[in-house]
Amino acid sequence: MVLYQQTLRKATRVEGIGLHTGKKVKLDFFPAPPSSGIHFISNHLNQKAKFKAAVDHITKTNLSTSLGIGDTAQVHTVEHLLSALFGLGIDNLTIQLDDLEVPILDGSALPFVKLLLEAGTVRQNRKKPVLKILRKITVEENGKSIAVLPLDRLANGKPPFSGTKISYFIDFKNPLIAQQNYTIDLSRESFIQEIAPARTFGFLNEVEALQKKGLIQGGSLDNAVVIGHRGILNKEGLRFSNEFVRHKILDLIGDFSLLGYAIQGHIVARCAGHALHAKLMEKILEEKDASELVEDSPLPLSSPTSVSPGMTASSIA
Ligand SMILES: [Zn+2]
Repeated sequence: MVLYQQTLRKATRVEGIGLHTGKKVKLDFFPAPPSSGIHFISNHLNQKAKFKAAVDHITKTNLSTSLGIGDTAQVHTVEHLLSALFGLGIDNLTIQLDDLEVPILDGSALPFVKLLLEAGTVRQNRKKPVLKILRKITVEENGKSIAVLPLDRLANGKPPFSGTKISYFIDFKNPLIAQQNYTIDLSRESFIQEIAPARTFGFLNEVEALQKKGLIQGGSLDNAVVIGHRGILNKEGLRFSNEFVRHKILDLIGDFSLLGYAIQGHIVARCAGHALHAKLMEKILEEKDASELVEDSPLPLSSPTSVSPGMTASSIA
């Protein structure tokens, strides 16, 4: 786990279309000071609003995660971008949009990762705030569940892992997905290699109904894995045999970045989704005796402050 806060070395920009709106959108990224967090500036119909990417600004968790204040200032489908930021250890950033939805790009977090690594990250003179989980917290609903547990003290005699461990289990009726289980010890490197490329997915037989509701107007085989009656419709096939469960972990990482702390603990999800992720975060913040804050004290000025652009994952993780 990267222990220092980071921002981008320089401003950068990406353009694409929104999955649900189908509209073109431009995102501008600007470096931000230590401990300021991730902020969105929505700029729709010349009405600007700035708000923090935080649990108390979640406005919708159906199909994707939306953030905002009231009805006027909204940013939709934030989770893949936030996942890339958290996975790369970028804590402080201002993101300005000229529409309502973060572009879907290829449906994974990989294009964001490439863009952000190209701009380069800068180490800031402050430690990350980390929440160490002391006892189990669980949320259960209709056979679905998510929990966070303290890390094992000893892992088969190996030095104990001290970051975020995530296990996800999914169980779909569709035999092309069926049951999948995946566990990851999260690091910059494992995120980039094992999670970031996993694309979002949908079922062909649900496309029409969702489009009638005004959703997935920008959805296509270029930005999602589409599961048909007889197989995957994407000619290139899957990026991983268990791409679906890996994408669920990608979504979870994006959602959990809204907590404002890196978790030192093991998150275990069973058939969960954005809504259940949000409920567990709320419970973690409510049940203060279940975790302890590892101090984010300022570091001595002699500590390293910058990382050059274009460094590979393994050189920084
Ligand atoms: Zn997703």
